[in-house]
Amino acid sequence: MAVQGGGRVSADMNAKRFEAELPPRAANHAPLTPLSFLRRSAEVYPEKTAVIHGDRRWSYKAFHRRCRQLAAALGDAGIAPGDVVAVLAPNVPPMLEAHYGVPMAGAVLNAINTRLDARTIGFILRHGGAKALIVDAEFADVAAEALKDSGTRPVLVQYRDDTRDAALPLEDSLPDSVEYEAFLRRGDTGRADRLPADEWQSITLNYTSGTTGNPKGVVYSHRGAYLNALGNVITFGLDARTVYLWTLPMFHCNGWTYTWAVTAAAGTHVCLRKVERERVFELIREHTVTHLCGAPIVLNMLCAEPGAPGATTGHVVEVATGGAAPPTSVIRALERQGFRVTHLYGLTESYGPATVCVPQDHWSTLDMESRGAYMARQGVNHITAEECIVANPDSLEETPRDGVTMGEILLRGNTVMKGYLDNPAATDESLRDGWFRTGDLAVRHEDGYIEIKDRSKDIIISGGENISSLEVEEVLYAHPAVMEAAVVARPDEKWGETPCAFVCLRNGAEITDAEIIEWCRRRLARFKVPKTVVFGELPKTSTGKIQKHVLRDRLASLS
Ligand code: ADP
Repeated sequence: MAVQGGGRVSADMNAKRFEAELPPRAANHAPLTPLSFLRRSAEVYPEKTAVIHGDRRWSYKAFHRRCRQLAAALGDAGIAPGDVVAVLAPNVPPMLEAHYGVPMAGAVLNAINTRLDARTIGFILRHGGAKALIVDAEFADVAAEALKDSGTRPVLVQYRDDTRDAALPLEDSLPDSVEYEAFLRRGDTGRADRLPADEWQSITLNYTSGTTGNPKGVVYSHRGAYLNALGNVITFGLDARTVYLWTLPMFHCNGWTYTWAVTAAAGTHVCLRKVERERVFELIREHTVTHLCGAPIVLNMLCAEPGAPGATTGHVVEVATGGAAPPTSVIRALERQGFRVTHLYGLTESYGPATVCVPQDHWSTLDMESRGAYMARQGVNHITAEECIVANPDSLEETPRDGVTMGEILLRGNTVMKGYLDNPAATDESLRDGWFRTGDLAVRHEDGYIEIKDRSKDIIISGGENISSLEVEEVLYAHPAVMEAAVVARPDEKWGETPCAFVCLRNGAEITDAEIIEWCRRRLARFKVPKTVVFGELPKTSTGKIQKHVLRDRLASLS
């Protein structure tokens, strides 16, 4: 179009020239989805190893075919777009395949934490409304019990891992299930890729224990998953030479979206049923693993005993950690063995990583103590996370960058969850005024790096798993001898934190700490059971609220 007037173009005309006349079209605007990563990698590297599990290997072509077969088989079994397909499995190939096959069927993947008890799994199946459930045989018993509780009857598919290390039970507690490979064979191999028509469509549902007793269902979009995965590729330096060992559970925020990131880079996924030290090192050496992730408990495990020979075969293994800050002693021990540590911070609500402690050049000249102090900071926003601030959660006023003034970490951007499933009140509350409220309290340093100091929400994080204090308190209150109870986090060298129960008994009641622990053990997943029980009066405010900070101070004096 000819423009007259030598550049004096009105704003209206510009709006027309640049915007109205150039709307998005199918040729230049495709919905963002991580499913396209698999399609591309299979096209570019058909024969390259995509997945290793025990002595099995699948090329990208085979991986892509299996995912399409899974999608087709799910469709044939009656799974419709928008239905939920749950998976209860460790990091084995079907879990990874479900990250593609389920959304390819237009369905929503719900990867369930395998450490949960049957009652909670039953709640999740019922709340999510799972229409199909893919179960690893190791978890068939707990799935059978959970299904009894849930009152739902999903299509059941059971995976029997026949690799050397699996050692699965012979008993079959899910006789109604179809075996996974047989189920896949039903699926048409010629099925074309079906990508979502809208990038805002839901891709996964991840339950997280927040501050309330029952877990909340966090929903991710194709768009957010795509962006966060690419953020990981950039931040963690993934490429086609990447060999990624699955030490992080895929049920944690879809493996912090590495399930899609590794495929985007056309790297190799090395599956791992159980995180055991010897096995991890064996796999690192055997496959020349380049990258892995894990909570600090995994890092602790990787630390060799003093005097042990270098654990990697001389190559650098990149380790990303999150869930808690890595202690200097652990960083030092890992670096000696050939690991390089990246510190991430995030939540289920932020697709995993929301910030990363980006190393600055001058840190490398510092001694270990000073460098460790820098590396313990949660850092700056992940490249695909729009904004991360420390602010007053009500006024939204940012705290000064003085390293002292505390505020709440607030997040905003394309990698914040869509919301909580069937819980508009909690969604509105957590996303109000344009910011997601993390419940984490932090300071901001002069250089803009964030450092967490405390948590305003009532959760305990033990070995990387969230525990709602309220859920444990409810179980304690249900005991006839207990009048009042409060559960707080006790710092623990191995687990990071463990639950400590403060209990005030009813008049005349007598009970030992072992009995309390046993009571909890029968009602809670193992990792949620208090490791310590302290009897006595509970400190209260004038309005009768239990003062948890006083209890935390008391803990400091416990030997
Ligand atoms: P995930 O499933 O990744 O563990 P959760 O939603 O269960 O995520 O837990 C998130 C919480 O873990 C955060 O709100 C924060 O309290 C804690 N957390 C995560 N990363 C870090 C970190 N690097 N340092 C300190 N705390 C962290």
